[in-house]
Amino acid sequence: MRVAIIGAGVSGLACAHELERHGIMPDIFEQRRRVGDLFAHMAVALQILHRPVKDQLKDLKENYHISLKPANVLKKITMHTPKVTGSIYGNLGYLMLKGQSENAVSNQLLKQVKSPVYYNTRAEYTKLAREYDYVVVATGGREITSILGCWEDVSLNWVMGSTVLGSFDPNAMMMWLNTEYAGSSYAYLTPFNRKSASLVLIVSNAKREEMGYYWKKFWQIEGFDYRVASLWDLEHVSGYVYPHQVGNILFVGNSGGFLEAFLGFALYSGLVSGVLAARSIAGGRDYESCLRQLVANSKFSVTLRRELNRLTNKGFDHLVALLTTPGIKQLVYNTNLDFIKTSAVLLDIVERARSLMDRKIETGREGWEKKP
Ligand SMILES: Cc1cc2nc3c(=O)[nH]c(=O)nc-3n(C[C@H](O)[C@H](O)[C@H](O)COP(=O)(O)OP(=O)(O)OC[C@H]3O[C@@H](n4cnc5c(N)ncnc54)[C@H](O)[C@@H]3O)c2cc1C
Repeated sequence: MRVAIIGAGVSGLACAHELERHGIMPDIFEQRRRVGDLFAHMAVALQILHRPVKDQLKDLKENYHISLKPANVLKKITMHTPKVTGSIYGNLGYLMLKGQSENAVSNQLLKQVKSPVYYNTRAEYTKLAREYDYVVVATGGREITSILGCWEDVSLNWVMGSTVLGSFDPNAMMMWLNTEYAGSSYAYLTPFNRKSASLVLIVSNAKREEMGYYWKKFWQIEGFDYRVASLWDLEHVSGYVYPHQVGNILFVGNSGGFLEAFLGFALYSGLVSGVLAARSIAGGRDYESCLRQLVANSKFSVTLRRELNRLTNKGFDHLVALLTTPGIKQLVYNTNLDFIKTSAVLLDIVERARSLMDRKIETGREGWEKKP
C-alpha cells in the first residue's frame, strides 16, 4: 500500500511511526529543510486536559507506542488576573521542548521513524491523491481542509512570543488573563531552564499589525524587567472539522481540527490523531469511528472556549479565585475528574437556565406591558 504524508510535524511523524508498525513505509513530504517549529518554545502537556488519561506521556507510550522525553515536570502553575493571583501545585503535567534542537519533540519523533522524509518539498495534495492509495494531510493548517469544505473556524488568534532572559523556576509555569491585552485569550511563561523562558501572548481576534500594541501593553501592565533574546509571531487558528476523511485523503493534527479550542493546545491530540489515521488506513477501519473519543473531547473544549469568550476581567478574577480555592483545587488537579467535560456540561446547563430565565422575564414583561 502506498501512503503519502504531507508535513513532518508531530502528527505526520506519529502517523508514519504507526504505519511502520503495520508494515507500511509512507513517503513524508516536508516543505522546510528540517523538522520542527522555526523558533524554540516550551510547550505544556497539561494533565487536566485529557482526562481520564492521567499521564499523557505514559498513555502515549502504552497505547500509541510513542516515547517522548519531557524537558521538565510541571509542578506549579501561577495564574494572574487583574485582581487575583493564585497558584496550584502537584504533578500538573510536562514541559515539552518544541523547535529544531536535538531534544525537541519533532526530533525525538524523527529518530523513531525510518520512512523517507523529502525535505524542501511543498507537496500538492491533488497530485498525491492520484498517485497514492492514501494521503494524510498533516500540514498544521486549515488550507487543504478548507478547500475540501470540511473546516469551520472556531477561534482565531494571533500569537506573539519571545525567549526572555531572567531568573525562573524550571518546574513552574505562569499564566495571565487580562482582556486589556489578551482579549478572551491569555499569556503564559514556560521556562527552558533557570535563566531563560518562553513568554507568549495569545490575543483573540487580533490582526498582525495590532500585536505590537498588545505586546507593549502586556509588558507595561505586568511590569516585566526580562531581557528579550528573540521575538516571533504567528497566526493560531482552531477549527471544527467534519468529515475527517474525503475520498483517500485523511486530516490529522491541526489540519484535522485537533488544536483544542480551550487553551490552543494540540500536542497530545495531534499525536493521537496521527496514530489513529494510520490504524484506520492499515486496518481498513472507518477513520471517523476511530476518532469518536477524540472528537467528543474537542466538542467539550469548544463549549468551554465559548464560555471563556464571554468573560470580562471580573469574570477572570472569579474564575481564578475559584480554581485556586483549596477544595476545588484538590478536586480539579488531584483527582481524576474530567475537568473539561464537567465544566462544559455545567456551563451548558447554566447557559440554558440563563436563556430560559431571560425568556421568562421577557414574556413576563410583555404580558405586564400589554395589561390595560
Ligand atoms: C506558539 C505555540 C505554542 C503552543 N503551545 C502548545 C502547548 O503548550 N501545548 C500543546 O499541547 N500544544 C501547543 N501548541 C500546539 C501544538 O504544539 C502544535 O499546534 C502542533 O505542533 C501541531 O502539530 P501538527 O502536526 O498539526 O502541525 P505542525 O507540527 O505545525 O507540522 C506541520 C508541518 O507541515 C509542514 N507543511 C505544511 N504545508 C506543507 C506542504 N504543503 N508540503 C509539505 N510540508 C508542509 C510544515 O512545514 C510543518 O513542518 C502550540 C502551538 C503554537 C504555535
